[in-house]
Amino acid sequence: MSDNKKTQTALIHAPRNAPQYIHSIQPPLFRASTIIFPSTAHLFDRHWSDPYDYSYGTHGTPTTFTLGDQLAQLEGGQFCLLAPSGLSAINLVNSTFLSQGDEVWVPDNVYGPNIEHLKNLQQRYGIHVRIYNPIDADSFVPSAATKLLWLEAAGSITLEFPDLKALLKKAQAAQVITALDNTWGAGLAFNAFDIGDEHLSVDVTVHALTKYPSGGGDILMGSVITRSKALHDRLFKIHANQGICVSGDDTAQIIRSLPHMALRYQQQADHARTLTTWLQQQTQFTQVLHPSLASSPGHIYWKEICTTGQSAGLVSVIFDSKYDLAAIRRFCDALTLFKLGFSWGGPMSLVMLYDLKQMRQLDTTHLQQGLLVRFCIGLEHPQDLIQDIQNALQQLE
Ligand SMILES: *Cc1c(COP(=O)(O)O)cnc(C)c1O
Repeated sequence: MSDNKKTQTALIHAPRNAPQYIHSIQPPLFRASTIIFPSTAHLFDRHWSDPYDYSYGTHGTPTTFTLGDQLAQLEGGQFCLLAPSGLSAINLVNSTFLSQGDEVWVPDNVYGPNIEHLKNLQQRYGIHVRIYNPIDADSFVPSAATKLLWLEAAGSITLEFPDLKALLKKAQAAQVITALDNTWGAGLAFNAFDIGDEHLSVDVTVHALTKYPSGGGDILMGSVITRSKALHDRLFKIHANQGICVSGDDTAQIIRSLPHMALRYQQQADHARTLTTWLQQQTQFTQVLHPSLASSPGHIYWKEICTTGQSAGLVSVIFDSKYDLAAIRRFCDALTLFKLGFSWGGPMSLVMLYDLKQMRQLDTTHLQQGLLVRFCIGLEHPQDLIQDIQNALQQLE
């Protein structure tokens, strides 16, 4: 019989430090709430604003800092904070940069839960939410109270690509902080911190890592990236105050997926283009939306900014207005490869239906009337996806 007391202690204090020469393809995974200080000197020498402050799990571990550094490099930024979802990352930006009486501008096609959060802040803290037309930079009219401008390129349902250059110039002239939801571009379609010949830059990017970086449809996470230490420090403080943090295991999954993200992104974008060519020939649709198409609002800005021709795997179609909701529901229910569900960037193609009339505040003369269906292209063979849509279209009549 072993000495139970000693065995128990030995189980807890069982070091097995890897020798220096041991390396694996994936970095070691740290799971931590407590981080052990080697000495009181380490404890007292640390400073809260050190971007690599090893003090407690909520502030980060080598695992989370590895992912943060990779994402900052991918997107062209310098500092990264991780949040437990894309929406949480958006909320971190709103709660850091908006105070009572401030004004924030969002595009009419903004990711829905962002404006829901802002309306909540509006009611409770007197923050004024203003909406601009994503394809008309002139509709953004900053005032002395404007503190934050949200950008999406492209918008994730109707896929308008904004005149980012014009919007950034206006915001900079008015000293407004610019935050880009970079989930669609994913750091691949364009460099948000270095746009065009004039090297324009957004101040902050937010990325729903849930989409392309995860690539599996199974992990939720978000990031907030900046190039400015001053902005990062403001975000960092709220991030720490609110206890926003992510699990080491989830982080390791994203680190594992990141090296093949560009391949997946390219493949999904290529297959999306194959689909758009076919979709445009079908009479049931009055408009096919994908920034690479001339028929897609803001196409010229996409062409100007996404110089490598990258265009992600989202395609939306607007159905002829003679088809009512019941018909569109029959269509969606008849699809077999496209599954009905939110999100995108995973291996499985997804479909979602929307009624634009209920989603938009401004007029949408650049879009046809009718119900909209968004396809998120997965990694299936594009001919199988086309066949699936073709079969389901028979349910419309
Ligand atoms: C999915 C998504 C988000 C939110 O990400 P979650 O991780 O699902 O909270 C934010 N912005 C855009 C454009 C998205 O597509």
